[in-house]
Amino acid sequence: MNRAQQIGGASCGAIAQYLNDRGVPPPGGGKQWYSSSVQRIARNALNKGVLYWGVESAPDTPPVPHTQSSVTGREPIRHDHFIDPLIPPAEFDRVQAILDGKQALWTRRRASRPQYLLTGKLCCTHCKRLMYGMRQRSGKTMRVYYRHHQYRDHDDDRCAWSGRSVRAELMDELVLAQVGNLLADGQLDLLIQSHLERLTSAESIDAFAAERARLTEHVKQWKRQLKKATEAYTRSDSPVVQDSFQLQIDTLGRQIDIGIADLDALDKRDEEVQRLGREQAGFLADISSLREQIASQPMQRIIIEQVVDSVVFDFATATAEIIVRLAPSS
Ligand SMILES: [Zn+2]
Repeated sequence: MNRAQQIGGASCGAIAQYLNDRGVPPPGGGKQWYSSSVQRIARNALNKGVLYWGVESAPDTPPVPHTQSSVTGREPIRHDHFIDPLIPPAEFDRVQAILDGKQALWTRRRASRPQYLLTGKLCCTHCKRLMYGMRQRSGKTMRVYYRHHQYRDHDDDRCAWSGRSVRAELMDELVLAQVGNLLADGQLDLLIQSHLERLTSAESIDAFAAERARLTEHVKQWKRQLKKATEAYTRSDSPVVQDSFQLQIDTLGRQIDIGIADLDALDKRDEEVQRLGREQAGFLADISSLREQIASQPMQRIIIEQVVDSVVFDFATATAEIIVRLAPSS
């Protein structure tokens, strides 16, 4: 079979279908041919007699000719004229060019219209169930949708929008436009700023400082009392009096340990608040760079991931409420 000639005229998927229809057994004992299995064969340089060795384990290192490679070398090896070419080398190269072109086209398409931008984020306003991405043929074109969870008829909590779907491109556009607005007019900055302010509000800082001062004062007091009790213990000759001071010393010792541990915990909380503050400040800086990139379509997926926590969609009004992510992703 002249595989290369067929790939020149038909897609890998069509060739796989052709082979399946004729009952040709697929390679490696699989159940059927896939577009990818056809592509693997078409991409194999053995078709023009060249053997590559070790390319998978070092994809970024250019292969060296087998005559120049060392036995222990880790670089991939290229062995020209390993076997007689199965097809004319020029034809093999032409097929590679076609496949490269198709791949580049797909990469561009995916970048310009990312599918299911909102997977894991989009949910129904009524039942809060997540909606999922779905492809469905409509006439000759394949369309992508977000679909509402399909309830069973007898489910008690059955939502009225069960099984309904909405076109994915329209949904994505709606959400991107809203995120664009949030970024453009500085609303997002305000939201984050107010979140940060609540976190480090004067009230909570005052309460923190008061608590710390109170504990520090107590620990000081207990230490003074401990000193006095120890001195009194040493001065006394009576075992009964000594026992009562010993009890006081033990109690004060425990109180001081607990007080110091509490102070440590307070300091850790303070560090945590400061850390959150720094993270939010970093997030704000990210946001301002995102604002400049929202127009670039390949960036939209990243922006949605960074900014949007969830999208609540209302089928009744066809409106989406965007819940902004206020904590930076770790
Ligand atoms: Zn619902």
